[in-house]
Amino acid sequence: MEMLNGRELAKNIKKTITEKIKIITKTTNQNPALATVLIGENPASQIYIQSKIKACHEVGIKSYHYNLSTNATERDIINLINDLNNNSNINGILLQLPLPQHSLTNNCINTINPNKDVDGLHPLSYGRFSLLKSWEDILKSNLLVPCTPLGIMKLLQYYNIEVNKKLVLVIGRSNLVGKPIAMLMLAKNATVIMAHSKTVNLKQLTAIADIIIIAIGIPNFLSNKYSLKKGVVIIDVGINRTQHGICGDVDLDYVKTKNVAISPVPGGVGTMTITMLLENTLKAFINQNKLKFPQL
Ligand code: NAD
Repeated sequence: MEMLNGRELAKNIKKTITEKIKIITKTTNQNPALATVLIGENPASQIYIQSKIKACHEVGIKSYHYNLSTNATERDIINLINDLNNNSNINGILLQLPLPQHSLTNNCINTINPNKDVDGLHPLSYGRFSLLKSWEDILKSNLLVPCTPLGIMKLLQYYNIEVNKKLVLVIGRSNLVGKPIAMLMLAKNATVIMAHSKTVNLKQLTAIADIIIIAIGIPNFLSNKYSLKKGVVIIDVGINRTQHGICGDVDLDYVKTKNVAISPVPGGVGTMTITMLLENTLKAFINQNKLKFPQL
């Protein structure tokens, strides 16, 4: 079993981001700035936000944190987002999900100025990269692509894993991970199969896939019930808190007996997601200030 180490790559990318920000600060006298918005007190969300703020400080991105109460209304959240949209000192806005009231999610995301949408979840952000034809075009565009799928693509690229013409099985069809990673895989010439909770023949699909990306939130789901193709690459996106600690959607004890490459949990995609948030914040700064800077 080969491990795809997200931490190693994240460290390299953070080093590059830090160097670029140093140059930017010298020439513009400014630092990119990210606003993080948390509604309520979800303990897991608080931990994620803290990691994001810490990562910002490590690379020289300023961060401003806003915490509204669980009872905040749609108007309260939209007013805050509009203030941040209008604040020229803020380059990126991250609304931590899930919101306590799920029904407000779309309206709140849709309020974020797409140019500051560092999570890449605004319909315009989604549309912009989905309409481009190739992965190279997406990279050149400096668009804000959703962080987790972008991190997965960079991880595969770092380990020289061929996507072109491969059969990619995406398990999970969320807006956050499943749908956007499928678009990116298509842009890189993969043949993509999307599976989800209503898929009936998953066992047949895991047996033929060259790459499996699983994001469903069920601990150790991909277990010995599922056959795997020899040499399959598995990207485990799941983050599940169990009484034995954090684990992914893949049963590591099963796959370690197989000839596979896997991004483990922890140490795989999670670290890359935060690093892509940093990269997107820097991109947003570059785009907003119309700086001539090599693509990230
Ligand atoms: P979600 O929770 O919104 O939806 C779950 C998806 O899984 C749905 O599309 C559903 O159809 C599918 N599903 C559920 N049961 C299934 C089954 N038995 N067979 C096949 N498909 C099934 O998805 P999400 O927001 O993408 O989160 C999924 C997991 O990924 C969670 O554990 C989450 O914490 C994790 N996550 C990790 C990162 C990261 O940075 N590593 C980022 C986002 C999400």
